[in-house]
Amino acid sequence: MKKNNRSRKDSEGLTPIATTKEWKLLYFQHGRAGLEEGSEFIGLCRHCELRDICSISKPESGVWRCAYYKALTRKKTNLYENVINQLKKAEDVVHFDQDICRILAETTNELIVHFPVKMDGGTVTMLTGYRVQHNNVLGPFKGGLRFHPLVDIDEIRALSTLMTWKTAIANIPFGGAKGGLQIDPADYSIEELEKITRRFTFALGNNIGPEYDIPAPDVNTNPQIMAWILDTYMSTVTPNERNRCLHVVTGKPIESGGSQGRNKATGQGIVFLIEKWAKDHGFNLKGATYTVQGFGNVGSWTARLMKKHGSKLIAVEDITGIILNKEGINPDDLTDYVKEHGGVLDYPKAKPIDHKTLFNTKADIFIPAALENQITAETAEMLNVKLVAEGANGPTDPEGDKVLQRKKIDLIPDILCNSGGVIVSYFEWLQNKRSEFWDLDEVDYKLHKMIVDAYERVRDTAEKFKVDWRTAAHIVAISRLEIVYKERGIFP
Ligand code: NAD
Repeated sequence: MKKNNRSRKDSEGLTPIATTKEWKLLYFQHGRAGLEEGSEFIGLCRHCELRDICSISKPESGVWRCAYYKALTRKKTNLYENVINQLKKAEDVVHFDQDICRILAETTNELIVHFPVKMDGGTVTMLTGYRVQHNNVLGPFKGGLRFHPLVDIDEIRALSTLMTWKTAIANIPFGGAKGGLQIDPADYSIEELEKITRRFTFALGNNIGPEYDIPAPDVNTNPQIMAWILDTYMSTVTPNERNRCLHVVTGKPIESGGSQGRNKATGQGIVFLIEKWAKDHGFNLKGATYTVQGFGNVGSWTARLMKKHGSKLIAVEDITGIILNKEGINPDDLTDYVKEHGGVLDYPKAKPIDHKTLFNTKADIFIPAALENQITAETAEMLNVKLVAEGANGPTDPEGDKVLQRKKIDLIPDILCNSGGVIVSYFEWLQNKRSEFWDLDEVDYKLHKMIVDAYERVRDTAEKFKVDWRTAAHIVAISRLEIVYKERGIFP
């Protein structure tokens, strides 16, 4: 990380004036006052403790941000390269058909759209969005849409490929896709966000569709955003088709055609798998400790659902801060706090810690549920846990993987671990197509069956080929795709 390029040596002599989510302390630069947009400050970063120049954006919304900090928090590596190398690793074990591997190593369609949106103040902003469709041999393209300032085509390519593996492992009739919009939603008003979402949907046009490519929530997107996408899509088709496209997105609010249990589905799936892992290993979850990185949809639901086992959440990191309480943090109480305050920062019933301390905290289970490339060679060395359950997509880089294996830390890999979301998305899609409504017990029962079956396929494959679980999960996925390609042949 190029921390030092922009860091200031010192700010001695400057008077601290405020603290914010990103900055431990803010100092006026040159003694200048005023919180108008664009004013520059010197800030002491909460996370890396470096001093840097930061500027205020949208002072009226109280959101003070520094793009440099956000870039720093995420090491940009070539995620797509990692994904393809993992495919090759599985190929080396099973010697899959080379033609099929060549097909799977490429995406099918890649769309980049640039579109204008009129902001609240009347100015027009140009935005960039992506949709990558990796493969649809098993069924319509399927995958989330994320809103994040660092989204790029490499990341979306990689995530769309992981979706193909995920749906294949889960044995559901979908392919893989992913989309993204290069924005930080916190920088926009709710009205602007709605306009941006609708304009992006319009720009995607019929590159998405209920029987063709079906988006869902991901980082910084939620049921409300899915409802806007649905409404925009419905408004662009002919009136007699409108009610036939409810299933153009999943993860909708229940009233707008969503499924019971979809919001918690990814976390629920993770907890079902942790239960299964514990059962297989004779491990008692009662009193077991765990730490979580990311406390959004996936992280918070996982934590809330772990409560029923009497397991203890002891440390949490999100974009605003990192907290620890070895006596245990109540996930419901923390969820309420995060809803009110926007993050875990300053949560009064735990103490603040730094990034390294989170990774060094001894616990039974670590659940990464934020972004990719968080478990690296360096952070994996620090981990003192028995199991890593990957809620996030791509949270471990290849070097991190090697260290986890050397340290004999068990791993439930992302393409299995977080598949609960897409499994219940499939249930939602089916309910919409059949005009049915399933109750929560039915959804949970079916999710449990499908995800535990997938776990057993991966576990048995790992035993059969004597490989790590990530490689085993890839073998399960690629074997299924290989069979289908061989049966159907290559057109013409
Ligand atoms: P979200 O936006 O609801 O939550 C993301 C969380 O990560 C937030 O708590 C945020 O503060 C935190 N975060 C962001 N950047 C961070 C950083 N640099 N350091 C620490 N924390 C940071 O997103 P989500 O839907 O919970 O998705 C989280 C992960 O799970 C992503 O990798 C996503 O692709 C994956 N996933 C989500 C779903 C789903 O159904 N939502 C399904 C499968 C996989």
